[in-house]
Amino acid sequence: MTGETLIELRDAEVVRDRRTILHVESLAFREGEHVAVLGPNGAGKSTLIGLLTRDVRPVVRDEPPVLLRGLPRWDLFEARRIFGVVSDNLQEAHRKRVTVRDVVLSGHFGSVGLYRRSEVTPAMTARAGELLDYLGITALADRTMDTLSTGEARRALIGRALVHEPALLVLDEPTHGLDPSGTHHFLSLLRTIASRCALVIVTHHVSDIVPEVGRVVMLKDGVIFRDGPKAALLTGEAVGELYGIPAQIEEREGWYRLW
Ligand code: ADP
Ligand code: MG
Repeated sequence: MTGETLIELRDAEVVRDRRTILHVESLAFREGEHVAVLGPNGAGKSTLIGLLTRDVRPVVRDEPPVLLRGLPRWDLFEARRIFGVVSDNLQEAHRKRVTVRDVVLSGHFGSVGLYRRSEVTPAMTARAGELLDYLGITALADRTMDTLSTGEARRALIGRALVHEPALLVLDEPTHGLDPSGTHHFLSLLRTIASRCALVIVTHHVSDIVPEVGRVVMLKDGVIFRDGPKAALLTGEAVGELYGIPAQIEEREGWYRLW
């Protein structure tokens, strides 16, 4: 069951160095829906996320290209209640002497770490404690981000993104930099989070698509190449065409592998 449209892109175009690097005619992410955005390196996946976080500016149109819950105008504080984002850029920005607890709390302020003027209420502290527990990182709460493994730091950033209970969590290349064990545990965590909010998993790995994902959006050369049900799209033919390689797809217990 999927509900209300949370994020909608209409005629969203991004130009860099006089080249269109992304042009999305129409794309919507809905409440309760788990989606994978799949595409090769350079397809425009991170640019798409940049449109949501406002790190990337679209070409100006009469009609705004990014709508949140149908609203054409929104600020980042409103946005955070609708969706949270975890990306490598964010992780890079957090490789600091900031504790895991403060990283989670900083989600309330949209900052990297806390400032003296950040007014942390007891409710915020309690909420952060619950999230640390939920994410299995309570034991890391007082460790600083620069001392953590990639997977541990990524969990802390998920906590930061979930502090507002967003309806949707967007993850850019969630298993990037993780070893097989780290990948396994991280994908297990995503499966747990899938019962809490909608997921948009942005990746170039078919193997990152957790069984809960029902829909796949394929992005190639800056445009949507296919958008539809997972079972129809995760075929050797479609994935092979997406990556421009001969491909076979094997499905086992809801997981997919590319050969
Ligand atoms: P993906 O995340 O799918 O690997 P990106 O969204 O990062 O792809 O990049 C899409 C394309 O846009 C790539 O060809 C990349 O080189 C180009 N690109 C991204 N950002 C910029 C920029 N700031 N200036 C010029 N080209 C860019
Ligand atoms: Mg990317």
